[in-house]
Amino acid sequence: MTKKLLIYIEYNDNSIQKVSKEIIAESKRKFDDIELSGVVVCSERTYECLKNELEQLSLDNIYVIKDNIFDIFNAKIFANSICDFINTNCFDIFLMGATEDGRELAPRVASTLDIGLTADCTDIDIDKEGNLLATRPTYGGKLMATITSKTKPNFATIRTGAFRLEKSVGLKSPEFQIINPNISGLTTLIEIIKEEKKPEIEDWTCSEIIVAGGLGLQTKENFELIYKLAEKLNAKPAASRAAVELGWASESIQVGQTGSSVSPKLYLAFGISGAMQHLVGISNADKIIAVNTDRNAPIMRNSDIAIVADAVAIIQELLNS
Ligand code: FAD
Repeated sequence: MTKKLLIYIEYNDNSIQKVSKEIIAESKRKFDDIELSGVVVCSERTYECLKNELEQLSLDNIYVIKDNIFDIFNAKIFANSICDFINTNCFDIFLMGATEDGRELAPRVASTLDIGLTADCTDIDIDKEGNLLATRPTYGGKLMATITSKTKPNFATIRTGAFRLEKSVGLKSPEFQIINPNISGLTTLIEIIKEEKKPEIEDWTCSEIIVAGGLGLQTKENFELIYKLAEKLNAKPAASRAAVELGWASESIQVGQTGSSVSPKLYLAFGISGAMQHLVGISNADKIIAVNTDRNAPIMRNSDIAIVADAVAIIQELLNS
């Protein structure tokens, strides 16, 4: 029987979050015999802003839970409406982004529905019976665990950047269904006193080329070369956690389990050992080139091209070429 997968469509500033599109793209790529649906919780005003973008999503159905109470994000109220919707519609799998909002919503949804939750996943698959196989780092990132759930829907949150985003996600337009939720009894204890727009942070994680540096660069001055090379290659700079901890780079450009997941076409790793906690962040990179003096460093086994050399010397060569 065709399985039914539901994806929570998250939005921010009236545009759909990248992670929701990534989950749709990966589900399309991986699963054949599956009905893909999305659910969005929004106000009339937001719906008007999102409509065009929603129509482009390659989903079979889009359920729009619409009421003006959703004009402001409130985890309790949003979660309640999602649970009511799931309780009246049968889904086998439910996926959501492991974003700030997702981290507030998912535990509420899981506890209200009394179902399991596999949080912060970096990979998904489906077994022969149609159950979700959700993979995430465990034991401080030393191991990857693939987790199945005994409760329905199988529920997981997915890290941003874990999956590649395809420009044209699909050809088919979704069927829309507007749902008027039962909001009686839903009150908010939140009063908005002042609204401030968050400063725009450039999303570097979807850059096609990423140039990353680690402790093998030896000094902060040498790490500066990462920025220069990134600029020359029209790429974005990134760092290992060890380099961030030494203050060579900002935490915002850390790649890995406690940093960002990236999926560039090319990932250049200079002086990075390739600890599991770093590798989980680059598992979706198309090509990895590593430069390391130690041919046995884990990153070398996980690279498409492994160059045994001094990282600084290679960067200098590239800058001078
Ligand atoms: P090292 O492991 O010290 O590696 C330096 C490498 O440089 C070595 O392989 C060495 O051979 C090479 N080298 C030395 N000299 C040269 C040279 N001249 N030229 C070229 N190569 C040279 N790490 C992350 O990166 N991201 C995370 O999100 C993250 N999350 C973590 C979460 C937890 C819970 C834990 C416990 C750890 C986490 N870590 C994370 C840390 C991770 O385990 C590693 O310690 C870290 O990735 C190591 O960074 P590194 O590769 O720069 O340094």
